[in-house]
Amino acid sequence: MINAWNVKLLKMGELTVEYSTLMYRQHFGEKITIPMWATAIWNDEHKILVDTGIDECEWIREALSPCEREDDQDIVSAIKKHLGWNPEDVDTIINTHLHHDHCGENRSFHNARFYVQEDEYRAAMNPYAHTKNLYKKELYDERAVDYFDWVFLHGEEEIYPGLKVFPTPGHSAGQQSVLVKTEEGKLAILGDVANLSANVNENVPVTFALSLVDEMESLKRVREMADVMIPGHEPDMYDGQTSGFPKVRKDLD
Ligand SMILES: [Zn+2]
Repeated sequence: MINAWNVKLLKMGELTVEYSTLMYRQHFGEKITIPMWATAIWNDEHKILVDTGIDECEWIREALSPCEREDDQDIVSAIKKHLGWNPEDVDTIINTHLHHDHCGENRSFHNARFYVQEDEYRAAMNPYAHTKNLYKKELYDERAVDYFDWVFLHGEEEIYPGLKVFPTPGHSAGQQSVLVKTEEGKLAILGDVANLSANVNENVPVTFALSLVDEMESLKRVREMADVMIPGHEPDMYDGQTSGFPKVRKDLD
């Protein structure tokens, strides 16, 4: 019997975006302010982060969208405040994908191994033109992470007992989700396969997808695999949350 893992949600600031970019063909012309989430997972043996937030707001404001971050919402301050961890305590980082708001502080973790799908790393090193402003190479190339500290994954893989990744491509080429055994069931940490729980529970893809067909298959896969979920930008969750995450609808497929 594998023991359940502990989970804590860490708020990494907020973006204000056009709502229709999160829900395909819905909410045109509306703005929404959304949090950026990273997730800490731990047991007696491992201290793990899923994603590491942004590096700074300034260039994001200029290049992409309004961005706000409080002083304690960078990942290094957040793990200290919420968990009493220092960066060197973290042994494992799993990047759902390499968009700038999911790997912004990878560079701060020198004792960690970094898990990513190889498809994502390759795409991020040579991004399609229309995705270029979401990838900032200095956040994941040699300037941030020693090449040999990466573990390149090829599909579904168990990282530790009770903790695995599964591919959920569509939003990006090699986007993956983390599935972890918790007290309240199988929790999926989704990155941006779902920006919001409504993507999963109303079966509406995120607008920003390399492949909408892959995205639809991935949302279905999430509904098959998970009981509860942490979507990458869901507003209806809170900093420091450890349970009561949004439930996955099981009656859709
Ligand atoms: Zn993304």
